[in-house]
Amino acid sequence: MSTPNPFHTPFPSLGQSKPLIPPLYQSSVFTLPDLDTLDLIMNAEEQGYIYARDGHPNGHYLAQQILEMENGSWAAICGSGMAAISAALLGIVQKGDRIVASSRLYGKTTQLLRDELTRFDVNTFFVDTSNNDEVEKALEEPTQVLFVETMSNPLLRVVDLPALGKLAKEKECALIVDNTFATPYLVKPLELGATMVIESLTKMMAGHSDVTLGVISGRGDLGMQMGTVVSTWGFSSNPFDCWLASRGLATFALRMRTASENAAGLANWLQEQPGVNKVIYPGLPDHPDYQLAKRLFNHNFGNMLCFELNGGRAAVNRFLHHCPDIPFSPSLGHITTTLSHPALTSHRYVSPAEKRRQGITEGLIRLSVGIEDRAHIQEAIAKGLA
Ligand SMILES: *Cc1c(COP(=O)(O)O)cnc(C)c1O
Repeated sequence: MSTPNPFHTPFPSLGQSKPLIPPLYQSSVFTLPDLDTLDLIMNAEEQGYIYARDGHPNGHYLAQQILEMENGSWAAICGSGMAAISAALLGIVQKGDRIVASSRLYGKTTQLLRDELTRFDVNTFFVDTSNNDEVEKALEEPTQVLFVETMSNPLLRVVDLPALGKLAKEKECALIVDNTFATPYLVKPLELGATMVIESLTKMMAGHSDVTLGVISGRGDLGMQMGTVVSTWGFSSNPFDCWLASRGLATFALRMRTASENAAGLANWLQEQPGVNKVIYPGLPDHPDYQLAKRLFNHNFGNMLCFELNGGRAAVNRFLHHCPDIPFSPSLGHITTTLSHPALTSHRYVSPAEKRRQGITEGLIRLSVGIEDRAHIQEAIAKGLA
């Protein structure tokens, strides 16, 4: 048994050449020349790295890319979207605090607020955040955090971020926005009064369904605290996922533009198809938040849309069998189009009454539209509908 002698195989010098793409530093720990250097890095007087959970170059590179997109002053990369949400909340709440949150949040976020934070006596009051009066009424009681999603899953209800930002400021309450569905391509919540914005990079931003990551960004002095929360609670990211996400971001705007154009075209086309009851897309004039979305969103209306089939669950099953080219995959933001069934996946554990109230029926299909030729997507869907 022999192993290469590590002292004989130093990493080759690059000489004067530099890699064209950002290198991947897949190392959980770094070496230092002496104790004085350790002190300088630990005291933040000199740039450097010690232990990857506390910070690593690929994470910092990704954070720089994102805070530019968000127009923020700091960003912290976390190991998942849920890690980012947990870090954002755990970083600012105290025992006994009150949170006001949307009643249409991502399922795991609702679970976090309802079943986990309550163990620390942090209690959440859920309201319809599309109704500003209801939010204002809820904030009459002292509240420390207002938590919303820019665009809800699956029915794409949009919240009036400028109005909520103003309200939160008046009440001296932090506004945390989950911007995963809209992404900074459509809107930058930090410009509209959000204290912190989080995104699951797992979805459209990394965009290739091969990483699990999240990000929190903000302006002002919360950055240091969030860095500490991320490394102490262990919400940290790994370098390879960050490297992949940085690569994904290079095409993010192109993908969002094409996917959103596809979604808008499909929304119109689906409205004309037999067997389709209803199409839900914020870019359609009959969507309840069409005017708001038009005012809030920069470029267009995003890549997510829903349509409802006549005939409920049985019709959806028939559709799935005859539409094999669009994978049934309960996530979103892939390069190609995928579909999901909210009633049985993301909203499986939402009560039937609440599903009825929101309009999440058994016939509802959610599409995460990709960047393929729209004709190919239409052909695949037309087979399913036939
Ligand atoms: C997916 C998602 C999350 C969670 O992100 P993960 O990376 O899966 O942990 C949070 N919020 C929304 C709106 C999401 O779609």
